[in-house]
Amino acid sequence: MAERTTRFADYGDYHIDNPIAIVFESAPFFVNTARAMRNKNAVNHRGAIFGGIALMEDEGVQTAGYVGYNYTPWDGHPKRCAEMRSIGNGIAKGYNRQDLVLVTGSTDLEEIESILGFPSPTILPCAEKCRPLIGNSALVLAVGADVDIYQAHTGEELKGLDDLYLPNGKQKRRRFRKQPVPPPLVAIEDPEFAKFIELKEEYLHLSTELPSFDDLESKRMAQAELAVGLIRGLAPAM
Ligand SMILES: [Zn+2]
Repeated sequence: MAERTTRFADYGDYHIDNPIAIVFESAPFFVNTARAMRNKNAVNHRGAIFGGIALMEDEGVQTAGYVGYNYTPWDGHPKRCAEMRSIGNGIAKGYNRQDLVLVTGSTDLEEIESILGFPSPTILPCAEKCRPLIGNSALVLAVGADVDIYQAHTGEELKGLDDLYLPNGKQKRRRFRKQPVPPPLVAIEDPEFAKFIELKEEYLHLSTELPSFDDLESKRMAQAELAVGLIRGLAPAM
């Protein structure tokens, strides 16, 4: 069998000061790539298949995109998620920081609830394996595989979701007090990602107004939070 290419795009130092700009420029390409990985390669004996891409960087030097898909051919097979694979493929090449983690799958609410434990309009990275792998400052996009809907989070937000949304979670109340406004699990409907692409100019403009940071993690966190805020702004008011 031919060796599979896991790197789907090499951006070098293009937009290295602000890699999320690449996401706004190339959203349909990223989504189509993740969907193609899902459709061609993902295997799950239970039927739930996912594709993923991660835009990874070598700590402010180079940026590249890596693909993944889930692979669980039989019950008891080690868990291999699309996000684990895409992130792992980047790490294997020395790209240790994620700027974007994108996952695509079914938008069937019952199927998603059976996997996550709480209802969400799109599948999100799993709590056991994937969320701990995802950097706090990553932009996480959860995208429908068959319909153009998506939701956005930072990696940091994802890590608190179980405490907020799992029914009868022991930590629920405590966390709610700490963080009174939980991140919304709201998907944006956006045929062909037209609204998303239109955010590019606004994102680029507002990101030039961010303060300067001494460390890369703080800078990336500010960029990811700006992107998440703009993307959520596309959703109708709740
Ligand atoms: Zn996972």
